[in-house]
Amino acid sequence: MQRVDLRSDTVTHPTEQMYQQMAEAPLGDDVFGDDPTVNQLEQESAERLGKEAALFVPTGTMANSIAIGTLTRPGDEMLLMEDSHIYLYEAGGSSRLWGVHPHPLPSVAGCLDARDIASSIRPDDPHQPRTSLICLENTHNMCGGRVITAEQIAPVAQAAREHRLKMHLDGARLFHAEVALGIPAAQLAAEFDSVSFCLSKGLSCPVGSLLCGSAEQIAEGRRLRKLLGGGMRQVGVLAAPGRVALSQGIDRLAEDHRRCQQLAEQLALLPGARIEPNPPQSNILFVAFDHFDEAGYQQMEADLGALGVRVLAIGERGLRAVLHRQIDDEGLQRAIEAFRQIRSI
Ligand SMILES: *Cc1c(COP(=O)(O)O)cnc(C)c1O
Repeated sequence: MQRVDLRSDTVTHPTEQMYQQMAEAPLGDDVFGDDPTVNQLEQESAERLGKEAALFVPTGTMANSIAIGTLTRPGDEMLLMEDSHIYLYEAGGSSRLWGVHPHPLPSVAGCLDARDIASSIRPDDPHQPRTSLICLENTHNMCGGRVITAEQIAPVAQAAREHRLKMHLDGARLFHAEVALGIPAAQLAAEFDSVSFCLSKGLSCPVGSLLCGSAEQIAEGRRLRKLLGGGMRQVGVLAAPGRVALSQGIDRLAEDHRRCQQLAEQLALLPGARIEPNPPQSNILFVAFDHFDEAGYQQMEADLGALGVRVLAIGERGLRAVLHRQIDDEGLQRAIEAFRQIRSI
């Protein structure tokens, strides 16, 4: 029996059309700038996000890292959310690679609060690091795929302008926000100097992320990509599925959002269940149960796994489930049944 894998949308495999384009894409050496497929993907990505230029990189982590490296100087400080991917899950790269001091702040509905920013910006004082960058995340992974609206971004951008700070958006799932809000990603990206997004999650590509920004930033980013060992050669084979994803894959994300809401509705009926956020805003939800601790969730993860349904236990938060292209209505029903079985109703 095929597993229903809700651990992440990173588990998606390429579509038939992607495989076909991988086989047929014109190729060149991208370090020489000669790969036409990569060049097309970079141009299409920049246009879609309303930026001057874009850089194809292997991972979202590298895209964020290059953004931080290009928008700061060593010894600077960046403001970001304490539950952001950059702060929690990127191996401390900002300090290790670029000497940039992360200053974590609470997330309020998945975003930074402009008052926290105002009170955190350092005065011009030789004792202190220089505050130079703000990072946001859309959708916000650890806030359960929360969608950040233009209204939430505006006061942060205002604070950044007042204090001459740069802004970077970790948009690993930015197109989920586009679909959920029904407004173009470029509009959600407008206030940011740079934006990263992943092809390798809900968009079903095997590999790949883009960093979009000014021509100058991206030119410098190309140097940092080389430094990090991310200069790749006939990488049109990986850019080709990215082009398919951007032209064919975005509207489909609405199906994942619908199934995520259906999953939430059914799980909410289980005894002691709490869904977060409720209702889910994109393709991610957390479910917690009264009187469960970390060990209880790990057991639950194992019990569901034994029934062929994989989710992730995340500490005291409960279980995370992520909907994606490879969970159809039947897979959704199997997941719901497995939860019912282990909660024995
Ligand atoms: C997955 C993810 C990343 C990093 O992407 P990788 O390709 O796994 O390095 C960055 N930010 C967020 C919010 C993510 O979910």
